[in-house]
Formats: sequence, structure tokens, C-alpha cells
Amino acid sequence: MATHKYVYFFSAKNAEGDASKKQLLGGKGANLAEMAKIGVPVPAGFTISTEVCSYYYDNNNEYPKSLQDEINKNLEILEQETGKKFGDSQKPLLVSVRSGAAVSMPGMMDTVLNLGLNDVTIKGIIEQSGNERFAYDSYRRFIQMFGNVVLGMKHESFEHELETLKEEVKVKLDTDLDTNNLKELVKRYKSKVKNIVGVDFPQDPQEQLQKAIDAVFSSWMNPRANTYRRLNSISDKIGTAVNVQSMVFGNMGETSGTGVAFTRNPANGEKAFYGEFLMNAQGEDVVAGIRTPLSIEKLNDIMPHVYKELLSIAQKLENHYTDMQDLEFTIENKKLYLLQTRSGKRTGFASIRIAMEMYDEKLIDEKTAIMRIDPNALPSLLANIFDPAEKKIATKENKIIAHGLAAGPGAASGKIVFTTEKAVELAAKGEKVILLTSETSPEDISGMNSSQGILTTRGGMTSHAAVVARGMNKPCIVGCTAMEIDLSKGKVRFVKSDTEFVILSEFDEISIDGFTGEIINKDLKTIDSEIEQVFVTEEIALKDSTIAQHYDKLMAWANKYKKLMVRANADTGPDAKIARKHGAMGIGLCRTEHMFFEEERIMTMRRMILAVNDKERQMAIDELLPYQKDDFIEIFREMNGLPVTIRLLDPPLHEFLPHDEELIADMAFELNKSEVRIKNKIEDLKEFNPMLGHRGCRLAISFPEIPKMQVRAIMEAACELQKEGIEVFPEIMVPLVGHYKELEIQKDLIREVAELVMREKGITVKYSLGTMIEVPRAALTADKIAKHAEFFSFGTNDLTQLGAGFSRDDAGSFLPKYEELGIYDSNPFQVLDRDGIGELIKIAIDKGHQTNPNIKLGVCGEHGGDPQSVEFCHKIGLSYVSCSPYRIPVAILAAAQAAIREG
Ligand code: ADP
Ligand code: MG
Ligand code: MG
Repeated sequence: MATHKYVYFFSAKNAEGDASKKQLLGGKGANLAEMAKIGVPVPAGFTISTEVCSYYYDNNNEYPKSLQDEINKNLEILEQETGKKFGDSQKPLLVSVRSGAAVSMPGMMDTVLNLGLNDVTIKGIIEQSGNERFAYDSYRRFIQMFGNVVLGMKHESFEHELETLKEEVKVKLDTDLDTNNLKELVKRYKSKVKNIVGVDFPQDPQEQLQKAIDAVFSSWMNPRANTYRRLNSISDKIGTAVNVQSMVFGNMGETSGTGVAFTRNPANGEKAFYGEFLMNAQGEDVVAGIRTPLSIEKLNDIMPHVYKELLSIAQKLENHYTDMQDLEFTIENKKLYLLQTRSGKRTGFASIRIAMEMYDEKLIDEKTAIMRIDPNALPSLLANIFDPAEKKIATKENKIIAHGLAAGPGAASGKIVFTTEKAVELAAKGEKVILLTSETSPEDISGMNSSQGILTTRGGMTSHAAVVARGMNKPCIVGCTAMEIDLSKGKVRFVKSDTEFVILSEFDEISIDGFTGEIINKDLKTIDSEIEQVFVTEEIALKDSTIAQHYDKLMAWANKYKKLMVRANADTGPDAKIARKHGAMGIGLCRTEHMFFEEERIMTMRRMILAVNDKERQMAIDELLPYQKDDFIEIFREMNGLPVTIRLLDPPLHEFLPHDEELIADMAFELNKSEVRIKNKIEDLKEFNPMLGHRGCRLAISFPEIPKMQVRAIMEAACELQKEGIEVFPEIMVPLVGHYKELEIQKDLIREVAELVMREKGITVKYSLGTMIEVPRAALTADKIAKHAEFFSFGTNDLTQLGAGFSRDDAGSFLPKYEELGIYDSNPFQVLDRDGIGELIKIAIDKGHQTNPNIKLGVCGEHGGDPQSVEFCHKIGLSYVSCSPYRIPVAILAAAQAAIREG
């Protein structure tokens, strides 16, 4: 009987996988096989497929029966190909055990190097290499990695031993330790293991291998990996593969080394080979920030042949994958090996530049270029930069207190925090913070996520902090060696020179410039990005900005492919203007209540609310009319030629009244009313659950003079502008309808006023009338409602609240736990819950079409600016999404990608 294949070999001779098998072999394994196939030097090995991971979790941490045999068989082939033997005392084979899922998860899963070493095989390694120091260096590394990953010991336990020994023998760097020192270290490490874990360090290579494989599979569900997946919306189901690969050694002395490289600059996208390396080092020494790595060009001085070979391999890989590659390499005695290649993570800036330049180089086509850019990265291109004038002053004032490597662009200011906990805590209170730390580790993901920017002492451009910050599109500066953090005192010292330094405390304000690497001792004002200066404020000409040209081209392409229209949620003329400049094709939601919150208007509004009789109320309303009308005139003017959906008054009235004693007294004085009366009214309007209270069309039904005034304002504005030759398309929208009769009543009222105004003005305006679908009952009875509506706009915020039964403002206390447990994959207020709320939307569409086949459909709400939700909207055939002006480019790009993906 044929058994299922779980293990895939890779070597130059025999590569069973290839790049197309990422789901099965993980990205690392698939690309190792692909590299082997196309003739890139890769140490041989084999990949245990992701199916084993799924099997492992589906079967109580048991493996498929046939797996052990398959592993043994592949190990044998590996022994044959390398001419070494696993566990042999003469020519021992050492391997690495590496995790690797289909989606790259940097730093999330752990790797063990030099596996197979023990007190016997080390003799063979010494013999083979003629380098005893190297052998013990490898052994101590192995014990530490195995101790950490497999035995669950803390890195610090080992680091502590290492530091102690270095002090004892008075050396600074690991590389300064001699053979005897390292021998001693191995001894101490072993007893550390014995002390902490209570067992001898496992000597049997087979046992080492089995345990390391177990550890990789179980690390798939460790909290760090779970957090990373949650933050990046990666499913738990995909699983990781395990790669077992023969070792090559970068720690064999001064003709060996290891490094990482990008085929183009991941920060700004420039077409320049970019990388860092260390001689006599292994594995992650480069990214761990233990020693400061050398820039890749230096390799040309040290080993020109190897450098040239690396360059040509990099070029070959980039051409082969037609994307910027992130490479890992090791040099063993002047011989170059590639250990990994993958599409490199990059900033929003870099992603656009690389995609556009690769298009120009004819490496990729238009559609591919569009697909290469993460819509969520676009806001960083529009992110503010520091006001150059303020920056200049700060420079003059000597406020630039330190420099580091500019690892992630953007400008950020905030309060200093030193720990992830503090970052999360302050951010939850709405404070802006900058995280200062010696270096970050995967445990800091949530702290980094909560911070405006990240600043670290150690590490290079490819350190954990840099990689993760770029992924999050956060300003980040690394390698700021002038920064000394004293955690115990809650202080940080920036050393400017031998005699000059600046001491700051936790919560002091600081600014970091992720474009230049400068750290500024001041809360600096930020200004518009270059793109905004070109397209919004028009201070820079398009021809003078490369990034704006790239962006312009991208948006033009995206607009060409997208099927969904993108509109903006905008309540004022200036918002409408910005929205239009960002490419909005109309306004999908204009919230009229915002117009009432301004200074003088609020008093009139209050007078209306407090009116004792219809006459008094009418007087106040008549006073509000010109305000509303002026606002509509401004918005219509900006949106000349495009539709504007106006939502009639929605919030409960009490939101317009003050609750503070002093303010009530002021108001009583100003309105010439008694305080008692005001307080009574406030008491009257109080509701147990305002979200479910007297609001939306319910208000309009109780006080028809309010919608009458609003419709009059809309129609007068429209008529007057149309006379001027401006094209207006008002869409009047009734909020919070749950029963068709609510809409029917409002429809009659709106039609009546609209007709009247048009008659008065002697002009006809093409307006339409529709409703929001945000109450589940409305979705379920959409056939009846659609008879009275020309459009439905899904108010997905309220629909989510009412559909799921929890309010957005209160969900913060339990949703994080829900996400952690996977009850909801992501926050349903950010990413539309397709299974639940999405289903309500589909029902409403079906039913709506039954009675009104031509009904126009759109979405307004935060979801309109979220790529995954946009894709859903595309799939179910909506005609537009509406989102905040700043998310418009995100929605446009997401809509284009959805259309392209659909094919
Ligand atoms: P990660 O997924 O965290 O990048 P990797 O599996 O790539 O982890 O391995 C960590 C480090 O060890 C990398 O620098 C990699 O190049 C190095 N490494 C892995 N396997 C080998 C090997 N067989 N020989 C030499 N170095 C290796
Ligand atoms: Mg790792
Ligand atoms: Mg790696």
C-alpha cells in the first residue's frame, strides 16, 4: 500500500519540492528546494511538510505512523550526499532544524543549529576541521539553542554564564574567547541544563532530532506565534513545516562568516544591493545585535570573489522570483551558501518604488505591480513628516540629541516608555508613546504595535525591531549606541560627547525621525507628507516628486481595474475637498449632526431641544436652516458632478446637551431659561441605552420639523447651485430604519418638502431617497423597505453592533480575549464579520432586489476602508464603499486587487 508522502528532499541533485509548494513545504522549504533546483548553492536537507503539523494538532500531538521511516530514509540520503554520518565519531553530520510556515513569520518560530553534536561527535568535528575552537564554539551555541527552544530554558541563563566567563578572563567579545574558555563554557552550560531542567543534556543525536522537531511543531501554537498571526490576520490552520538541513559553518574562523542581504533597499526601495554581515559568526549573530555588523560592500574588500558570487546570485534570484529578495547566506572557508530567500518585507515607500521600477525594467506587468503593494501600507506614504521649520529650530537649539539608523520612515513624537507593558498601558489611555529599548524581541510585538515609533540601542537595519517596525509601518530608529537606558531609575541618557549628555525620564516628550535617524529632545510639530503636498496642498509640483509620480501612476492603474466606486465619509467642505483630491468619487456619508456641534449653532440646537411648544421649536429650527444650507452649499460645490449622500439627523438629542453643572448654569443664562427646567429636560432625555433609544428616524417621526428643515436646507442649496451651473446629486438618507413604515412616513415628508422647494425655486434637481440598513430587522425585511428606497447604504458599524449584540464602545473589555481565543478572527469593527454581518447584508441585497431590481447598494462605515472588507463588498456586488478621506487610497487599491484576484 502506498503511504502518504510527508517528507521532501532538497539538494542540487534531487529537489522534490519547488517554489509552487509553499502551502505544503512552507516558504523556507519551498524556496530552499527551488534554489537547489536552479543551481544556487544550498546545503542539502529535507522538509517535513505542513500536513504533519495539522496531523499533529488534529491527533493529540501524535505523528503519522509512516513519518519516522520517511525521516530515517531521508536522513540516509542526506548522509550519502554529504558523505557524513549522523552521530558518527569520525565524520559526523550536523544539521539545523528550522521552522517555516507558508507565510513568513520573522522571529516567531525557533531554529536549532549544530544539532548532532555531543561529547563523541565533537571529536570528529575537531578532526575534520582541524579547529578545536570552532568545534566548541558550535557546541556551546547548540546547547544554548537546544536549551532554549527544546528544553524551555531562558536565554539569560546562558547569557549570564557567558558574561561571567568573559569577565573572568577579561575579554569583551565572544570571538575573543579561546578554545579553553569555550570548553569551560560548554561544561558550565551543561551543568546549567542539569541544574535547571534536572536532566543531563541529551547526547543521543536521534533523541536530539526528535525533540527539536517536536519543539518546532509545538512552537506553532506558542503565544508569540499566536500574537503575530492575530496581528497579521494569518490563520492558525496553515501550520508550519520543519526543515532539517546539513550545517555549513560561518564560525570556522576569519575566512568564514554569515550575513543577510536585500536585493534592493527595503527602506526606500532604491535599486542597490543592501546587506550586513559578520566574519566568524553563526546564524542570527547579525540580526541579534551582539556585534555591530559590517556593511555588505566591505565583503568586497575581504573576499572579492565571494562578494561577486553573492551579487550574481542575488541578481539571479531577483530575476527568477521577479521580486525584491531577502537573503540569508553563510560563507564556510570562502565557500558561499544560501540558506534562505524570500520576498523581502519593505516599507510602503519601498514597495511602490520597487513595483514601479520593476515595471519599468519589464520584470513585472501592471497587474503584478498593483498586487505587490499592501493597501494598508499606503497611509504611511501619507503619514506626516516633521515641520522642516520646527526641525531647523530644533537643530539650531541643539535639540538633536542622538542619531541612529533610519530603519522605518515616518515622524513620530510621544512620551518615552521603556517597556511593552507601559506602552500598551498608556496607549490604551489614548496617549502617544515612543518605545525606547536596548533591542526588541518577539515578546515586544504588542508594545511596538501600541507605540508611535520605536527606538533601540542595538541592532542593524535587519534587526528584529527594524523588520517588525517596517512590517507595521512605524517610524523606527535602531542602533542608537549613544542611548543608555537605566530601567531601574526610569531614565535614559543620550551621550553627545565625552562631556556632554542629556538625561530624560520616562514620560518625557521625545521625537524620532524615521527618515533621517535623528532623535530630538522636543515634541515636534508634524506636517503633510510629500504626496499630500503634491496632491492636496499643491505646494510641490508633480514633476518634482518621484514618490508622488509613482503614487499617481499606481492610483491611475488601480482606478482602471477596480469595479467598486470609492466614496468618502465627509461632513464639511474642507473634508470633501481633501476626499476628492484623494480620489473619492462622491460622498457616501455626510453626517449632518456634526454641523450642529459648532460654537454658535449648538446654542440654537439646544434652544430647539428645550422648546416648550411647537412655535418655540419652529423658531429655533428656522434659525438652524441657514447654517445647514451653507454647509451643504460648500460640500456640493466641492463635489461638483459627484453624488453626495446626506444622512438626516441621527444621534439622540441628549448628546447636544451639557451635563456638567457649570455648563448648565452658563446655558441657562445664555438661553434665558431656568436651570431647573434645563435639568428636568436633561433628566427627561436620559436613556438607559441611548444606542437603542430615541434616535435616527425615530426622532424624525417624533419631531417632523427637524427632517423638514434638513430637507429644505439640502434642496435649497441644491437648487441654488444648480442654477449656478454646478451639478448636484443629493441622496437623502434616512437613518436607523427597522420597519418599512418608518421609511414610508419619512419618504412622504421628504418628497413633499423637496417638491415644494423645487417649485419655489422653479428648478428640478435630480435627487434620490434611500435608507441606511443598520438594524437587523431592516435587513430581514429589505423587500418591503426597498419598495420605498432608491438606495441602501449598509451602515456596517451599527449593523455590527446590533447584529452581534455588543456596542463598539463596550466591546474593548472582552474583544481582545475573544480574538485571542479565535472566537472572532479579528475585531469585527475593523474587519467585517462575513459569516454573521456579511450574511445579513447578503439577505438584504437578495430581498431588496426582489422588489427593486435597480436599487443602488453601498457601504458606509469604518469597514469601507479595510482591505479585507472591501474585497467582500466587491464580491457581493456592491456598487461603492465609503470611508474616511485618509483611507480612500487604501480602498481604491484594495478594490483593484479584489477585481484582479477575481480574474
Ligand atoms: P528564522 O526563520 O528565524 O530566520 P532560520 O531557520 O532561517 O530562522 O535560521 C536562523 C539562522 O540560522 C539564520 O541566520 C540561518 O541562515 C541560519 N541557519 C539555518 N540553518 C543553517 C544551516 N544549515 N547552516 C548554517 N546556518 C544555518
Ligand atoms: Mg528564529
Ligand atoms: Mg531565516
